[in-house]
Amino acid sequence: MSKTLAYIALGANLGDPIGMLLDVIDELRELPGCSNLESSGFYRTAPFEATGPDFINAVVSLHTTLSPLELLHALQALENKHGRVRTEHNGPRTLDLDLLVFGDTQMDTPELTLPHPRMHQRAFVLYPLADLAPTLKLAQGSVQDLLPSVADQGIEALDMGFDDEDDE
Ligand code: AMP
Repeated sequence: MSKTLAYIALGANLGDPIGMLLDVIDELRELPGCSNLESSGFYRTAPFEATGPDFINAVVSLHTTLSPLELLHALQALENKHGRVRTEHNGPRTLDLDLLVFGDTQMDTPELTLPHPRMHQRAFVLYPLADLAPTLKLAQGSVQDLLPSVADQGIEALDMGFDDEDDE
């Protein structure tokens, strides 16, 4: 069965957001029909068009045999499992998962728009995406070339200590 390379944005800003994202990445790794997951580093961002504490953000890539809607539904099931509370649009949430890119798929339906229509405007998407795919072409330009346009949004790369073993 053919596999599609998909990119997914993760964000959380309530409770233990770093622990939450680590757990969710493990769960995405185990999703049926998905393989070869790679994660960006983790980033801290001030809420953008949202309220509450700072967000922790990351992007993962994976290969999948699922359809775009099947993958979206799997992401929504994970959001629900982790107790996302939909109180207000763009309000605080325990977990937000957005499907950014699904191969070359372009679609615009009430349920799913691909590529994600606002990803090129968001530092919390573009910086982690640049860890994984700096040359990925969006309609607005390559991920790397778009970084300067969002640099003023305030984003900090977290040192997660994953590279410690290499330091000795
Ligand atoms: P939000 O509450 O801002 O995370 O928006 C979630 C809603 O956006 C859901 O109803 C989805 O069906 C819809 N949606 C449309 N396109 C996408 C996408 N590319 N990734 C995730 N959700 C999407």
